[in-house]
Amino acid sequence: MTATALRAQINWWRGCQRAYDRTGYQYFHTTNQTASKEHVKILVLGGGSGGVAMGARMKRKVGAENVAIVEPSEMHYYQPIWTLVGAGAKSVESSGRPTASVIPSGVKWVKSRVTEVNPDTNSVRTDSGKEISYKYLIVALGLQLHFEKIKGLPEGFEHPKIGSNYSVKTVQKTWKALQDFKEGNAVFSFPNTPVKCPGAPQKIMYLTDAFLRKTGKRSNANIVYNTSLPVLFGVKKYADSLWEVVKARDLTVNLRHNLIEVRADKQEAVFENLDKPGETNVFKYEMLHVTPPMGPPDVLKGSPLADEAGWLNLNKETLQHNVYPNVFGIGDCTNLPTPKTAAAVAAQSGVLDRNITRIMKKSQPDKTYDGYTSCPLVTSYNTVILAEFDYNGQPLETFPLDQSKERRIMYYMKADVMPHLYWHGLLRGLWGGPGPYRTLMHLGMK
Ligand SMILES: Cc1cc2nc3c(=O)[nH]c(=O)nc-3n(C[C@H](O)[C@H](O)[C@H](O)COP(=O)(O)OP(=O)(O)OC[C@H]3O[C@@H](n4cnc5c(N)ncnc54)[C@H](O)[C@@H]3O)c2cc1C
Repeated sequence: MTATALRAQINWWRGCQRAYDRTGYQYFHTTNQTASKEHVKILVLGGGSGGVAMGARMKRKVGAENVAIVEPSEMHYYQPIWTLVGAGAKSVESSGRPTASVIPSGVKWVKSRVTEVNPDTNSVRTDSGKEISYKYLIVALGLQLHFEKIKGLPEGFEHPKIGSNYSVKTVQKTWKALQDFKEGNAVFSFPNTPVKCPGAPQKIMYLTDAFLRKTGKRSNANIVYNTSLPVLFGVKKYADSLWEVVKARDLTVNLRHNLIEVRADKQEAVFENLDKPGETNVFKYEMLHVTPPMGPPDVLKGSPLADEAGWLNLNKETLQHNVYPNVFGIGDCTNLPTPKTAAAVAAQSGVLDRNITRIMKKSQPDKTYDGYTSCPLVTSYNTVILAEFDYNGQPLETFPLDQSKERRIMYYMKADVMPHLYWHGLLRGLWGGPGPYRTLMHLGMK
């Protein structure tokens, strides 16, 4: 090699080193100079509630240039508000912001879908063919909706009278069906799988009842909630209050009923009776709200990171992976045995922040997630029962009031305060749940 060629080679390497120092990314060129591999210290998979929150927290710990988030969607949605969108109390536009505006500044947004996770080589692959290696991985991939597991869906949504608050594509159809209601059955379903926000399938029932009363149509309506579960709600304290609401408003609840088919052209919904295999019941409907079956993301299922059911296999206290110590998780994609909510994500984000930081410093995780989750059970256009509880189903209430009662103040929290906490607190890594406020409000007794 001539002296000039050697100098050029050295300059090229120096250039690469400067680029690496500036961006935190290292580019390994292959012989054809087209394919590239990237490396980042902390890689976050998914830019939803949990992914953005952890991106913001990790940026503060290791610097923006050492964090990347893989997320394919252009828009980020505050999903909890869809309950009110489906009932016409909020606009769908208010639920979304461009993803670019919520990715923490300086953090790299890899606008792709992860197609393969290889924890044995500390790397992932994306649908654009890129391979990204990491030192620490945070999995925040959410869950998948499976409308297609119900015969007749999703194509049934092309017909009127049917909607679902669970997707941005179908939430406005709920509001349309509600407005078009004349007389007959309003039917609501809850599937035979884990779901996110298990209160949401019945919140829209209470709002439907309230809307039909307000518009003078309630006497023409028969409101039916068909749930696969053997209970109305998983925590007795709140379930007891909800049964009272159901009785007072003359709502019909059928337990262990699972939606298996929608004949949208005939306005018929077919439910199987889970306690009597082979028995099905057909409900004619004037309005149908579908909560679809849900499951783990495809990329997790069958990967070394998943448990037998396909969910991310975590230590339920530390949120560290049970097999790969440099892998962590948060939110709906995990196998944490607590209802999947944004409130749970908030509480998990504080625990995860602390534990990853300690592990990066070669210490042991010392913060424990107690399973905190919360469900604002909207029971009308101005009342909410605010359920808050832990892994054991023990109420963990923030306010020094009996939260199992319907309250106006809690509706205000749900409709106006929580969206602000989400956009300006959780997503910026500044809101780790109400734990400290609970202690304060209960004068240090809780
Ligand atoms: C109708 C409704 C009502 C709700 N009500 C409430 C409520 O009142 N209170 C409450 O606390 N919670 C509520 N929730 C639940 C709450 O919205 C979720 O639990 C929370 O958003 C979960 O956050 P996450 O980060 O785990 O998942 P998400 O926020 O769903 O984010 C997952 C992200 O991963 C991305 N992703 C998926 N696959 C890939 C891939 N292969 N590669 C890269 N990225 C990928 C997705 O695009 C998505 O952005 C409600 C949800 C719904 C739908």
